Amino acid sequence: MTIDKHQYVLCPHCDLLVQLPDIALSHKAVCPRCHTLLAKNNCHMKLHTTIYAICSLIMLILASGFVFIDIRIVGNFNGVSVFNIPETLYSDNYRFISLLFVLFVLTFPVFNLLIMLLLCCKIPLSKYRKRDLLIVYKKFAHWCMPEIFLVGILVSFVKLMSYGEIGVTSTFLAFCLFIFFYLKAYICFSPEEIWNELASNNYARTPLIVGKTGISQNLRLCRCCHAILPAQSAHCPRCKQRGKIRNLDKMQWTIALLVTSLLIYIPANVFGIMITVIFGSGSSATILDGVIYMWHAGDIPVALIILTASIVIPILKIISLSWLCYFAVAAKRKNKYSCRHMNALYNAVEFIGKWSMIDIFVVSVICALVRNQQMMAIYPDIGIIFFAMVVIVTMIASQQFDPRLIWDQIYIEKSEKREKPDTNGS
Ligand SMILES: [Zn+2]
Ligand SMILES: [Zn+2]
Repeated sequence: MTIDKHQYVLCPHCDLLVQLPDIALSHKAVCPRCHTLLAKNNCHMKLHTTIYAICSLIMLILASGFVFIDIRIVGNFNGVSVFNIPETLYSDNYRFISLLFVLFVLTFPVFNLLIMLLLCCKIPLSKYRKRDLLIVYKKFAHWCMPEIFLVGILVSFVKLMSYGEIGVTSTFLAFCLFIFFYLKAYICFSPEEIWNELASNNYARTPLIVGKTGISQNLRLCRCCHAILPAQSAHCPRCKQRGKIRNLDKMQWTIALLVTSLLIYIPANVFGIMITVIFGSGSSATILDGVIYMWHAGDIPVALIILTASIVIPILKIISLSWLCYFAVAAKRKNKYSCRHMNALYNAVEFIGKWSMIDIFVVSVICALVRNQQMMAIYPDIGIIFFAMVVIVTMIASQQFDPRLIWDQIYIEKSEKREKPDTNGS
């Protein structure tokens, strides 16, 4: 990788202007104030990403269409392929969940692997096509969840053990390898390097002062391509995306989405997520019922995983984001340590957010497997839709939140003093 040692970067989390030092091979540069990763030096980034992306796609092709997990319940055998899971949900009229499964587990990861290949191979693409591909990659990256689906399969195995005998085929190994190589390609790929190949990241018209924030130098960071721009420029010259130095509308969106998710959280826990039909008589179970059942059955670790992922994490996420919004807008005393703690909280919210999808995947796998049995079948219930909406709405809320507001000192007064008509707040 060619990292310009004089290259300046604005930290996307705390807005500090940093000059990158010489980064040794396989090392990373982090922000001295908030410890966010700023750059890494992987000299064979393109080659490694290409190899991992090709391996991942080959493994997915091998894993598609064949039975990869099966269950035997009192002599009745039922095997499913990865495509049977959304098919079953679709035929049960749970098209929304089926669509989420297809998008999050298959479509978005495959699109991003193809984008990595196009950008890392020596395929002649115009600057504009590369720019469009990088923008699409960034939008999809947040919603790729094949690794969460894999953990969901493992949790569902533990749940299903009490019903019958579980089996996996060699296709399951290919599917695991697809996820392994996908993660390797994702970690290896550096969109910043491709952006820097397209154009320089520095569009500032004034000399840059290292160690001071962008806002104090009248600079803003492009949230899409991480270019350094004058605060007044409405469009980024590199990625053509619109932006503002700070966007307080997004803070309002975060709060509105948090209130929405809190309201949806109630039906998500009150309504059942799964209906179990045994010899013609059906009973619906809520998320909490599932946890209690697993606890009494002696599967305490799985009960704790479901309890944490499905009940504790969504509510903790809503509380944490509300606290972050309060801290960003209304906190009177901010010091380096409190800001660092809040930044760590934001990172945790960003990381754990999509893991709540695990229960959706567990229900999807169980419903696809325990089916067509003469004595037993499991169907999804309406609560699963509300639950999926809670996860998605909280994920969008955390995306809307701008972590730089945590570090801005009394930014409202500053924005009033500055009185710039084209900057909203800050
Ligand atoms: Zn920082
Ligand atoms: Zn940009």
